Amino acid sequence: MVRLPYLDGFYELHPTKIVALAKNYVEHAREMESDVPDKPVFFLKPPSALIGPGELIVLPRMSRGVDHEVELAVIIGRRAKRVPAEKAFDHVLGYTVLLDITARDLQAEAREKGLPWSIAKGFDTFAPVGPRVVDRRELRIDDLEIGLKVNGELRQLGRTSEMVFKVPQLIEYISSVMTLEPGDVIATGTPAGISPLRHGDRIEAWIEGIGKVEFDVMGEDSILC
Ligand code: MG
Repeated sequence: MVRLPYLDGFYELHPTKIVALAKNYVEHAREMESDVPDKPVFFLKPPSALIGPGELIVLPRMSRGVDHEVELAVIIGRRAKRVPAEKAFDHVLGYTVLLDITARDLQAEAREKGLPWSIAKGFDTFAPVGPRVVDRRELRIDDLEIGLKVNGELRQLGRTSEMVFKVPQLIEYISSVMTLEPGDVIATGTPAGISPLRHGDRIEAWIEGIGKVEFDVMGEDSILC
C-alpha cells in the first residue's frame, strides 16, 4: 500500500487499475520509431506494481533492458463513466508523479510478435509514485515542466503542454471504454529521453508544482544472493 502526503494529511492509493498512455508525446513516439496515433493508445499496469518513496525499483532477472519513463499521473476522485471532456476535471482528485518503468527488450519482443505488453509493463515495483498528491484545485496542469535525472545526469525534460491528447480528452476516451473508479490512476505518457537503468542507479523525477521524488534501483539478483 502506498501512502502519499495530501492536503493536511495523507492519501492512500488503492487503484482498481492504472491506465497508461502510449506515445502521448510526439518526440517520444519518434524515438520509439512510431507514428503519433490518431486516437489515444492505452494499456493497463497492475496496481501490484505501485511503490512509494523509500522503496526500491527492482530490475527483474527476466529482462536485460529496463527503461525509465517519467509521467504526470492523474488520480480519479469521482466515478467516471462516459464523461465528456468538458466535465472531465470534475472527476479528478489530484496529481502525482509516476514512473512507467518498462522492460524494453520484452516490450520489443511483444511488439514484434503482436503480443500484449502486460509482462514488459507489469513487474512488481514498475510503478513508483510520489512525492505527494496535489489537489486538482491547486494546480493547472496545461504547461508544467516534467523531467528526470539518473545519477544527477539529465535524461528527460519536457512540458505537459507537449501531450498529444490532453487530460480531458483522455478521460473522455478511457471512460467510454471502462469505468474509472475513485483512486484509479491515469499515467499520461512520457516525454523523450528514455534510457536504460542499472543496478545502483538513483533516479530523481519531478513535475513543476508537484515536486521531486527519488528512487534507488537494484538488480533482482543482487537482492537474492
Ligand atoms: Mg509510459
